[in-house]
Amino acid sequence: MKRSTSLILLLFLAIGNFAQKVDLNYYLPDNISLNPKIPTPEDFLGFQVGEWHVSHDQLVSYMKLLAEKSDRAVIQEYGRSYENRLLLHLIFTSPKNQKDLDELKKAHQNLCDPSKSSKTNISSMPVIVLLGYSVHGNEASGANASLLSAYYLAAAEGAEIERVLENSIILIDPCLNPDGLTRFTTWANMHKSQQISPDPNNRAFSEPWPGGRTNHYWFDLNRDYLLLANPESIGRVQKLQEWRPNVVTDHHEMGSNSSFFFQPGVQSRNNPLTPDKNYILTKKIAFYHSETLNKIGSLYYSEESFDDYYFGKGSSYPDINGGIGILFEQASVRGFEKETVNGKLTFPFAIRNQFRVSLSTINASYALKNELLNYQKEFFTSGIKEASKSTVKAYVFGDKYDYGKTYEFIKLLQGHHIQVYKYSTKDSYAVPLKQENYRLIRSFFEPVNKFKDSTFYDVSTWNLPMSFNMPYVSISNKNNIGDIINKIELQPGKIISEDIPYAYVFKWDEYYAPRALFKLLKAGLTIKVSTSEFTYNEKDLKEEFGYGTILIPVNNQKLSHDKILKLLKECTTESGIYIYGLKTGWNSEGIDLGSPKFIALNYPKVLILVGNRVSSRDAGEIWHLFDTRYKLPITMSEVARVGRIKLTNYSTIILPGGSYSELDEAAIIKLKNWVKSGGNLIAYKSANQWLSSNKFIDIKYKKGAKPDTSIQINYVNKSKEYSKQLVSGAIFEVNMDLTHPLAYGYHNSKIPVFKTTANIVEFPESTDYKWFNYSTNPLLSGYASDENIKQIAKTPFLLVKTMGAGKIISIFDNTNFRGVWYGTNKIFCNAVIFGPIINSGRSRY
Ligand SMILES: [Zn+2]
Repeated sequence: MKRSTSLILLLFLAIGNFAQKVDLNYYLPDNISLNPKIPTPEDFLGFQVGEWHVSHDQLVSYMKLLAEKSDRAVIQEYGRSYENRLLLHLIFTSPKNQKDLDELKKAHQNLCDPSKSSKTNISSMPVIVLLGYSVHGNEASGANASLLSAYYLAAAEGAEIERVLENSIILIDPCLNPDGLTRFTTWANMHKSQQISPDPNNRAFSEPWPGGRTNHYWFDLNRDYLLLANPESIGRVQKLQEWRPNVVTDHHEMGSNSSFFFQPGVQSRNNPLTPDKNYILTKKIAFYHSETLNKIGSLYYSEESFDDYYFGKGSSYPDINGGIGILFEQASVRGFEKETVNGKLTFPFAIRNQFRVSLSTINASYALKNELLNYQKEFFTSGIKEASKSTVKAYVFGDKYDYGKTYEFIKLLQGHHIQVYKYSTKDSYAVPLKQENYRLIRSFFEPVNKFKDSTFYDVSTWNLPMSFNMPYVSISNKNNIGDIINKIELQPGKIISEDIPYAYVFKWDEYYAPRALFKLLKAGLTIKVSTSEFTYNEKDLKEEFGYGTILIPVNNQKLSHDKILKLLKECTTESGIYIYGLKTGWNSEGIDLGSPKFIALNYPKVLILVGNRVSSRDAGEIWHLFDTRYKLPITMSEVARVGRIKLTNYSTIILPGGSYSELDEAAIIKLKNWVKSGGNLIAYKSANQWLSSNKFIDIKYKKGAKPDTSIQINYVNKSKEYSKQLVSGAIFEVNMDLTHPLAYGYHNSKIPVFKTTANIVEFPESTDYKWFNYSTNPLLSGYASDENIKQIAKTPFLLVKTMGAGKIISIFDNTNFRGVWYGTNKIFCNAVIFGPIINSGRSRY
């Protein structure tokens, strides 16, 4: 099939009248031949691309069909989303290359391995391109454009495309976030009228909470590339490390009134660990995007607004792995047509832009093939050279009290193909710098405190040991590094002295200890927690037990000893904990097992308020934590239902960050009465502002640092000045009282915490409060202005207030950030499980 320019003109006229229905030729470039044996998207779907939002199942089925029909394509699955949807790459290259795909991949891996790369012949190697669509599920023009990219690569004929395919391997990831796309697609399609109204007031444009941007647990997958908290990213990063693509695209949408953005972004905001050449190459590729968009008359811009500082995004993770990541941002339609300042924006228009820049990426990558491959080779060899010169030879880490957390830490590093070794000191591990992913290791381990620019699109630091509260040091020689650790598994714990004991105890130190506790409480066992320390010393066992030790008496339980033992064994396997059988209640030091300082615990009944103006991210992180890590069921309810819920069914109510202004006076009184009668209310982040204005707590927020008003700032630089006073994500130090129930399981009173706002709370005047506060000189890593650092020093991170028989626990900053703050998760968990026992028994906190 050949088409002519006059046909396009006719089509443009047609679009004016029936904007949502276009011909396939509207999308495709001029003068291409197409293989009629390859089914078009319309042949398969029964509708034209852009006429409806494609569902994820349709998308996957079409990709499978192309793999079946085309000898240029194969499918490789790389995982499942939480909702069990398929994650896949449709891989295109010439039929000849397809036969040698594994060898080509191996040769490419050798290029990235400095010990082998000198022998590689770049001119005979294909360039590897990965096109990734719609990581934000409600930015659907990307996923819909993937239909066209895949069709084009399967169907286009002629010398030009064949040359490209001989010299390229192109991986298409049609949808990076299937669960989010599914929520959004249903919403967009269900609101489609036959007579479309582009009025922005249409319900279609106001997605219901939590929207389709995020995944099942409401995580932003476009922040998860480094953190690997979700199966989508785990599978994806595994493939990125395996394929090491030279160019990776990341197709997004932005505000409807904008145009189209392609990278490079703001140069001064690039991460200093990324070589400068990356920017130059990104700009060379950008030239191809500009040409293609000029041809179809689409407005665009570049070198503004966005940056690649944080490596956890789809467009920046490739940059720290020797590739070029490219962010695309298309003005969002969020439906089929929308009135904007640029006139009527249609879905097909948005899809066409995304498709055309996919093609320009492929063409640019082919044209720049040898330069891209050389850059990648040099990226890894220069890394090894730098590592050889570095005075730091390795990082040594390990938490002797917490194997579960150490396991998660190693698993995360291994997820990025970072090699971890045993170290001579007990419970210690080493990561030598001199290895392929040298730059990635630096980005994880080095605290950052110098910045070229004070504006950040996302967080300013992601120091991994700090987020895990993981003790670590840098070392300047590699003398004591042992064997490499193969793929790590959570080691089962064990029961020590299990024969007919008087009681069982386990420590609260382990990350997964709460999982064991919840399992045992659910089984109906009587369980107590130690609010003091003790030492057990019988001939076969001497052990010290700290605050928060869990006690399971053997006598007077609902279950037989055999059944208890069976449960405990399951706990050691599932949680990796050690459980000690004690033969006497008489301890050599500290309290005895019958002491009133052991307080009985109840199985927590947790209600978390969600919906409407609640932060879905905060709520999702809490849901994810209790559901997937601690295995505690929690009830999620819409805020507006509080008036109708029997609150006394719950021991703990959690208010994630957000506003609760839809609660009326009666609901507020009901909530207060529930607290006074013994409820445990946990308010997270900005929820405390609502609590304060409704007189649950008596706190004031500091005014925060402001730009110096005595200096006249040029109009054009105003937002720059403003951003200097933001805290867009930095790590600060907090002091804890280790005897307080909220600090149970911790051994160091100083702990790194993550702060994402410049909201700062003043100390309350009343003596009703207990607190953990920021240190005198609190900044550990990341950007905050000197004024902000001063303001934050010594202010509360957390407050506990008694109200009647109940408590209000205010946590002002993140303890669960993005599922990777293993170090502070336990503070939040402690608030749920130990909140109700604060001030009970003989101890007063
Ligand atoms: Zn996006």
